[in-house]
Amino acid sequence: MIGIREALAGFESLPIRGQAVIAHGSFKSLGRVQGGPRVVVDALARSCDALIMPTFTYDTMVTPLVGPPNNALDYAAEEHTRQRQDGVSALDAIPFKRAMPADVEMGVLPETLRRRPDATRSLHPILSFAGVNAEFALQRQTMYDPLAPIGALAAKNGWIVLIGVDHTVNTSIHYAEKLAGRKQFTRWARLRKRIVECPNFPGDSSGFNEIASYLDNDVVTVTIGEARVQALPLNSLIDRVKILLRTNPLALLCQRNECMRCNEVRKAVRALPHPDLLPKGEG
Ligand SMILES: [Zn+2]
Repeated sequence: MIGIREALAGFESLPIRGQAVIAHGSFKSLGRVQGGPRVVVDALARSCDALIMPTFTYDTMVTPLVGPPNNALDYAAEEHTRQRQDGVSALDAIPFKRAMPADVEMGVLPETLRRRPDATRSLHPILSFAGVNAEFALQRQTMYDPLAPIGALAAKNGWIVLIGVDHTVNTSIHYAEKLAGRKQFTRWARLRKRIVECPNFPGDSSGFNEIASYLDNDVVTVTIGEARVQALPLNSLIDRVKILLRTNPLALLCQRNECMRCNEVRKAVRALPHPDLLPKGEG
């Protein structure tokens, strides 16, 4: 069992003092922690300058009956599933509110951060972030640019901290994919009185561990409790992803046959003219 002292010593051993940090974590990975998730979030927030975590809310999502093609959605099937299985219609999605808890899928740490009295939250109805001392990043988010807070951290040479989790939850890889020109998607969310379109929605992340072998020299690792905690510079990650996707535009996709988002990315890549076939000067 660890307490605030061990948590603090662990995070302070990482090169994040005075830095802007985006963190992802599994509270359970740490083993028993005296004082619970609050102690972990407090220790991390005290060890850096600014801290954000994703507080995504998938319960707000709705699927229209019709929508753009090549969007990794089977609109008719979605509607069919809703009506047949549980009678849920678009109106049963939960309207986004600032005080809406982060999805349980995000784990207890982001929700703990969101509930701190000194925390603020951005207002994207699906892809919000909570943060402390991070207004400069949270304010950058727009409907059109949902991952802009990560760009704001990158502009300050920020860091990523992964607490007992791997790159499949590393949202910054999505930010880098978009910079590299990878296909994005459109999703929709319910607000109190209307449905809003959410463009530039990222793809699937289950193939993201492929990046790990390219990051060996950039990652600083420490053990806190039972968890392996990794810190890496955000801009190093962004550069590695950009280089990887330039070398292999199909990198970081998952191998599940039924993954609609990865399959749409493959289709989009194959639709591009092959660089070798372009006339000289256009490659
Ligand atoms: Zn996939």
